[in-house]
Amino acid sequence: MALEKSGLVKTERVLGPDKVPGDESQIPNPKVPLALVLFGSPGSGKGTQSNLLSKALGIQQISTGDMLREHVRKGNAVGTAVEAKLKAGFLVKDEVVNALVEKRLAEPSAARGFILDGYPRTRAQAEVLCRMLAARGANEVVIHLVVDYNVIIARLTGRRQCPVCGTLYNVISKPPKVPGVCDLEGAKLIVREDDREEVIRERLEAYEKQTRPLLDYFREKGKTLYEIDATNETPEQVFRKIEALIRKQ
Ligand code: ADP
Repeated sequence: MALEKSGLVKTERVLGPDKVPGDESQIPNPKVPLALVLFGSPGSGKGTQSNLLSKALGIQQISTGDMLREHVRKGNAVGTAVEAKLKAGFLVKDEVVNALVEKRLAEPSAARGFILDGYPRTRAQAEVLCRMLAARGANEVVIHLVVDYNVIIARLTGRRQCPVCGTLYNVISKPPKVPGVCDLEGAKLIVREDDREEVIRERLEAYEKQTRPLLDYFREKGKTLYEIDATNETPEQVFRKIEALIRKQ
C-alpha cells in the first residue's frame, strides 16, 4: 500500500470518534482543534487537496500563497512588499508570512481546526508554527504528498488558470473543453506568472533547500509524519487516502 507512516514518536493526544452534540464540524474530535499540515513540492497537489479537505472536514484552508497573492491583487503595503518575490519564485520573508498566519489562526473561524497549505516553508516558520500549535493544544497531523519529479515538472509547465474564477487546468491531465478557454467563465486561460519555466526552477530549488529539510525537523521533534504517494493517483484517490488517515486518528 502506498500509504506509509514514518516518524519516531506518536503524539500523545489522539482524536477520538466522539462528537460534540450540535457541532457541525466533520473533524473526528471537535473538542481539540485539528491542525492539518500539508507538505509537498510545488505542484504536488497541496492546494487541490486542501480545498477538498476543507469542504469535507468543515475547517478552513489556510494557503499562504493565496493570502500573499490576494495582498498583491489589492496592492496594499504587504502586497507591494512581496510582489517581486512571488514573481521570481523566491520565498517571502519569514516575518511577513508568520504574521499573516498568526493573525489568521487567531480568527474564530480557525478555532476548530485548519489546513495549512504552503506553510511552514522554512525552519524559522516551523519553529513559530510549533509554538502556535502547542499554545492551542492542537492535534497535529502532518502529511507529505510525495510526487515524482518529472510528474511535477509536467504538472507545473502545463498548468493554466482562469483569470476570472481561478479554476486550474492542465493542458495534459485536465484540459478545458475548448483549448485555452475556461469551461465556466469562457475567459482566455493564462499561465500564472510564477509558472514560467525559469520561475518553476526557482520554486523547486527553494523547496529542496529550505522546505524539504523540515520533514526531518518534524521527525526530530517526535511528530508523526504520514507520507502519501501521490504520483499516479487522481486527486480523488489522494483525497480518499488522506480522509481515511484522518478518520483513523
Ligand atoms: P507553490 O507551492 O506551487 O509554489 P504557493 O501558492 O504555495 O505555490 O506559493 C506561491 C509563492 O508564494 C511562493 O513561490 C512564495 O514566493 C510565496 N509563499 C507562499 N507561501 C510562503 C511561505 N510559507 N513562506 C515564504 N513564501 C511563501
